[in-house]
Formats: sequence, structure tokens, C-alpha cells
Amino acid sequence: MSDVRQHADDIHDQFSDHIDVSVDDVEDRLTTLVDEYKVPIDEARRSVTNHYLEEAGLDREDLAGGSSEAAKIEDVDEPEQWIDITAKVIELWEPRSDSVAQVGLLGDPTGTIKFTKWAKSELPTLDEGGVYELRNVVTDEYEGRYSVKLNSTTVIEELDEELEVGDDTSVIEGALVDMQSGSGLIKRCPKEDCTRVLQNGRCNEHGEVEGEFDLRIKAVVDDGLDAHEVIFDKDATENLTGISLEEAKDMAMDALDTTVVADEIRNLVVGTYYRIEGPTFGRYVLADDVEELDGPADAEQLLIKARSM
Ligand SMILES: [Zn+2]
Repeated sequence: MSDVRQHADDIHDQFSDHIDVSVDDVEDRLTTLVDEYKVPIDEARRSVTNHYLEEAGLDREDLAGGSSEAAKIEDVDEPEQWIDITAKVIELWEPRSDSVAQVGLLGDPTGTIKFTKWAKSELPTLDEGGVYELRNVVTDEYEGRYSVKLNSTTVIEELDEELEVGDDTSVIEGALVDMQSGSGLIKRCPKEDCTRVLQNGRCNEHGEVEGEFDLRIKAVVDDGLDAHEVIFDKDATENLTGISLEEAKDMAMDALDTTVVADEIRNLVVGTYYRIEGPTFGRYVLADDVEELDGPADAEQLLIKARSM
């Protein structure tokens, strides 16, 4: 079914109890807006919905959730579905575009999913840590990853309850293609429960402190479809590189420079293939279980192909 037809179907479902309208009529209106006036489908849907609201003498609230179904995050496996979810805002990220009011990560007991709230939807602001019932959000898919979009038909209700968020374990197989800054031998703030990484000996919260050394890798792993940001903690980094925290400190001491550690680690890990398993935390996957691979899974196939040419 085409996108437009799917939207027409949804709108028709919302109004079929109220007015006499066919799916074809709805589709014609949407098609005119999308094809002739180049209106984005979300906007076209809103406009057409408004038209039928007026015709039926209804308010938007009368329809809220009309065609969408309550869903769990783990069940989202199709784009362009209108659903209701109850979720906690785990994290908010900096929007990269003016058209986006808020972007971040939602979680429920079954998993996590990215959300985008359009600026033009003029919806209330979601707070980090808040639990909300979100009615009439639409699912989207990009390169195999799902997200939900909050649009002008979305109804947001803040709930006064806690919601346990399930960690959804990711498995990534791919090449470690880049190591980000903040990797290698780092210093953390020693204040209780702070553990922030120091920048030039300073903690963002506590100012200048005597830091404690730690080892970590912030890496980008490319599985051929998508780039994933992966964090290796001290243990994972020691296992991956064979360099212990004590050895890293000695290396830095000898060179009077901590960057030698990052350089050494980069040489060891960049370009290597790994199978990484671990929980998703915000936009990062924490590398709990790491296995080095010989190469891409289909490398042999590629070689056979190359030889036959
Ligand atoms: Zn601190």
C-alpha cells in the first residue's frame, strides 16, 4: 500500500462513523496536496483531517487516538504506523535542525526508541525523566532503525508514575572505523558519584580537582548499514588492547604525555572487525561482550568473487 493510501485509510477510519466519505475521496484530497502543491505528507494529512473535522462538526479531541493503537516499543517494526505509547524520556539530544523542537530517546519496559518532535507541531515540552502517554505518534524507519515522530495531531499527557525502562541489548558486527576524542588514558573527577571526565584538569561541576586515571574507548563501529557509537570501559579496553591501566600510566609517564596511549590504542583497534554485545545507553552501546572477528562476515564471498573476475 502506498504511503498516501495508508494515510487515507487511517483518516477514513477516523471519520467513517461520523460522515459518509470513501477512502478514494480522502486519497484524492491527499494526492492533490502532495503531488500538485508539494505539501509534505504530515502536513497534508493534518489539512485533510481538518477539512473532515469541519465537515463532521467535530473537535480534534473527539478523534484523538481514533485510529492509533496502544503499542510497546519492541513491537515497532513497520514505518508509517499510527500508535499510542506510554514511555519515559530517557535522554534529550541537541536538535540539529530548526524544524525539530525536541529529539531524544524514549523507553518503556520493552526497549528504547528515538523520537522527534517537530517544531511546527507546537506541542508541550517533554522533560528528561518524565513519563508520558503519547497518543497518535507515527513510526518511521531509516536504514533499518525505527523512530517515532510527534506531530500536530499527537496528544501528550504527563503521567504521575514511574516507568521501568528495559535495556535492549544490541549486537553489532562490524569494523571499528574511528576512535573519538576522550579515548585512551583519561582522568575522572574523584568526587562522590561524579565520575565526570576532566577537561584540562577541570570538572564541569566541581572545578579543578585531582583526577583519577581511567581507561576507555569511545569508538565508531560500522556494520555496513549504520555507524554505531560504542563505549569500552576500563575492563573492555584492557581486554581489547592488552594494555592495562597501570601500563597505560607508565606509557604516559615515560612520554610525559597521555596522548601516546590513545595513539597506541588507535593503532591496535581501528580497522579491526568486532562482534560487540551490550546494553544501549542513550546513543551509546556499552561493550559488555566483545569478540574479535577475522573480517566482514562476507569477506570470503567477496574474495571468491574478486578471484573469479
Ligand atoms: Zn566532578
